Amino acid sequence: MKQQVTLLGATGSIGTQTLAVMAEHPERYEVFALAAGKNWQLLAQQCLQWQPQQAIMVCPEAAQALRQFVQAEQLDIQVRHGLDAMAEAASAPVVDTVVAAIVGAQGVRPTLAAVEAGKRILLANKEALVVAGQLFMDAVAQHQAELIPLDSEHNAIFQCLPPQGIDAGVNKLWLTASGGPFRGFSAEQLARVTPAMALKHPNWSMGQKISVDSASLMNKGLELIEACWLFGVPESQVEVLVHPESVVHSMVEYVDGSVLAQLGSPDMRTPIACALAWPERITSGAPQLNLAEVAKLRFEAPDDDLFPSLKLARQAMVTGGTAAAVLNAGNEVAVAAFLQHRLSFQGIFNVVTDCLNKVPVAQATTLDTLMQADLLAREHAEQLISQGSLR
Ligand code: NAD
Ligand code: MG
Repeated sequence: MKQQVTLLGATGSIGTQTLAVMAEHPERYEVFALAAGKNWQLLAQQCLQWQPQQAIMVCPEAAQALRQFVQAEQLDIQVRHGLDAMAEAASAPVVDTVVAAIVGAQGVRPTLAAVEAGKRILLANKEALVVAGQLFMDAVAQHQAELIPLDSEHNAIFQCLPPQGIDAGVNKLWLTASGGPFRGFSAEQLARVTPAMALKHPNWSMGQKISVDSASLMNKGLELIEACWLFGVPESQVEVLVHPESVVHSMVEYVDGSVLAQLGSPDMRTPIACALAWPERITSGAPQLNLAEVAKLRFEAPDDDLFPSLKLARQAMVTGGTAAAVLNAGNEVAVAAFLQHRLSFQGIFNVVTDCLNKVPVAQATTLDTLMQADLLAREHAEQLISQGSLR
């Protein structure tokens, strides 16, 4: 029996690489639904290749354009639009696996729908877990969903954890970070960086938002929160280490002093293939690691003064409730403004800090409460940016 897959965020960096791995194993995977934001042209090409039952765009105009294409090509594909349609495609009874690769808090509803339907979820959309961690993990337990991390660090930890669970002698989790394009910069240098510079990641080719997050270390802040929820540990049990080669993807430290690491070329197809086939192993198309060629692996402590993202993420975790949703929303707005040249790079830290300090925090009991906090933080961040006070 082939695995039936719904792919949320099909046209993005993770989405296209997931399809590339699946294309190497056509006997294993079939696509039930492909979903994306507005790039209907790429989704149309993917429809031709994969012939899914459903194709969904978040944007109605893009869905209309795709519908015309599907009719012209006489494809038997139902074209839909909106997040509700994505949630339905993620929870449809025939679906086995949902790949959650939408970027940002927008991914929460369809991903949560997959959890509530008890699916196997391959999670790349870290913002969904940052925003709704407790709710999300409670739903995973309640509906016996299976959550497999796609994020390379968390996938590495997933591979290094003891089969008996986190309580079987784990002391700490170590997340590695490349340090991004601005590693070693001075405050003066950082004050002059541009979006184009932030988008040039030394080791990985990724979507725009996560590239900026990697440059600011907010990606590692979000990943710290992601690790706490995925593996059930407090923030004090998660450490971060800068490792510029991006070969050691993360580590698990045990009480006896052992440290287990997962290594590989910096290529997302490896964690994608691992998660798609788990517990089996399949080829991914990624190059095998050549350590003699890499020759040197460096490790250093992160610079928490110049890049305060980790401190901010820890503050949000300790505060609890809706604080992480506020951090995430403030960051999403700030990153978008930075990309539009409306905010300086360091302004991102100022906006997130101010959101965390000023937006009221509530208990995170329902998705509506979380979305309300998300909205308040977005409004607060927008106001700060348009006032120009924190540039
Ligand atoms: P991307 O920008 O390349 O792609 C995002 C995808 O989401 C696109 O298909 C886009 O159409 C879709 N999308 C955007 N807004 C949407 C909406 N409102 N509704 C539905 N679909 C929408 O991003 P990416 O780099 O592929 O990252 C996706 C997620 O995976 C992010 O959460 C990111 O943090 C995470 N991630 C990415 C990488 C990587 O190497 N790219 C690695 C680890 C984790
Ligand atoms: Mg990562």
